[in-house]
Amino acid sequence: MALNLIMLGPPGAGKGTQAERFARERRVPKVSTGDILREAVHDSTEVGLLAKVFMDRGELVGDDVMIGIVREWLDRPDALGGFILDGFPRTVAQAAALDQMMTARTPLIIVDIVVPEAELVRRLSIRLICAECGATATPGNGSAGPVACGKCGGLLVQRADDTDAVVRERLGVYRRNARPLVEYYRARPTFCTIDGAQAADRVAADIATAVEAALVRGARAAEGQRR
Ligand code: AMP
Repeated sequence: MALNLIMLGPPGAGKGTQAERFARERRVPKVSTGDILREAVHDSTEVGLLAKVFMDRGELVGDDVMIGIVREWLDRPDALGGFILDGFPRTVAQAAALDQMMTARTPLIIVDIVVPEAELVRRLSIRLICAECGATATPGNGSAGPVACGKCGGLLVQRADDTDAVVRERLGVYRRNARPLVEYYRARPTFCTIDGAQAADRVAADIATAVEAALVRGARAAEGQRR
């Protein structure tokens, strides 16, 4: 059965890392809307120039722009057999638009990664990304941390929106939008909550177990609806 999955959670929850890992293991295409926007900013496209203003302030880019980007991506032939979305939806309007895109597809699995705010601030303050390929690198506890990207050898830098002031704004934006978004999904049989404050391997194992259970619940619910 096709695996259609979205990862919800605050900045620094590990959505990107876990989405990438899960996508690799399940051989499903993955997209991060943040990565698409950063690439657009880097290439100075029309969308990039528009998005940069919001991203620099830690605010959300408009729903219409984001829905258009995701609709286009989901129409790709390789995404028809399943996908993982990281960073979308961020608002109820985006979630409702995604539901419309999902008619005629198998149920959406929703993974909500929960991490206490103090831990998020700590993680974001030490997070680095590769200036060349965009990969994320977080120094281990007590070490000086990597100096070059483990994937391409590029220079590691702090993300423009991981500075203290912008992090505070991004967490505030997340808090305001998260509750209605989680309420939108919570009653679904395919909704799972994951403790993201654990080691990455443990989080990955919990996600794998929760997704299997959600797929079974989703299939049962779909079966019940057909009867
Ligand atoms: P991220 O890499 O997911 O933390 O996203 C970085 C920034 O891109 C966010 O702070 C927003 O400005 C913008 N962004 C990414 N995804 C979305 C989305 N689904 N809706 C609105 N803005 C987004």
